[in-house]
Amino acid sequence: MREAPLAARAEAVLDQLEKTYPRDRPLLVYDSPYQLLIAVVLSAQTTDAQVNRITPELFTRFPDPCALAAGDPTAIEAIIHPTGFFRAKARNIRAAARAICDRFDGTVPEAMDDLLSLAGVGRKSANVIRGALFGHPAIIVDTHFARVNRRLGLTAQTDPTRIEREIAELLPAYRHYSYSMRVNYHGRDCCFARSPACTDCPLRDLCPYPQPQE
Ligand code: SF4
Repeated sequence: MREAPLAARAEAVLDQLEKTYPRDRPLLVYDSPYQLLIAVVLSAQTTDAQVNRITPELFTRFPDPCALAAGDPTAIEAIIHPTGFFRAKARNIRAAARAICDRFDGTVPEAMDDLLSLAGVGRKSANVIRGALFGHPAIIVDTHFARVNRRLGLTAQTDPTRIEREIAELLPAYRHYSYSMRVNYHGRDCCFARSPACTDCPLRDLCPYPQPQE
């Protein structure tokens, strides 16, 4: 376990962020595990808002994993084109859908190793799915999460796996997913990459920035 003051501060950060951001659902819009998985894969290198604009048509045309696996690649590419990297993403979502259809009886798997076996699903995406769908402890390291935690002085790491491990040690497992989602929201809404809004930040009294964490 890392030193107690850091753990106490991480808990205090989360206490405050739970008040500031009451919801902890992903910003991606979805109605089923299949839809969340596909939306998460499509969200690489683009915004959640952009993904939300195209998924209604995608899920209307391809309402389940087996339909998407059998879908015409050109039609899929045309729908997801606005999300960028559309050829690679079309390949990945078809392959992931095929695996779900063939290997997992059409059901999104829950185990980390099974999720990581799906095309386009890395550790960050797998943790989103495990936390949001299945209630597992999940530290979700994206660019917002890494930046905010470094500024808060809760990690000095840059490698996502090390950040995940260090932050996980600071909080009880049942708070991991909540912490991930709220810190992510905070990075989007206040602790901006270029110019963090420190004056208005609800974490001001808990944050050592701008000391040399970043
Ligand atoms: S005080 Fe500034 S650096 Fe610290 S969390 Fe808030 S916005 Fe980010």
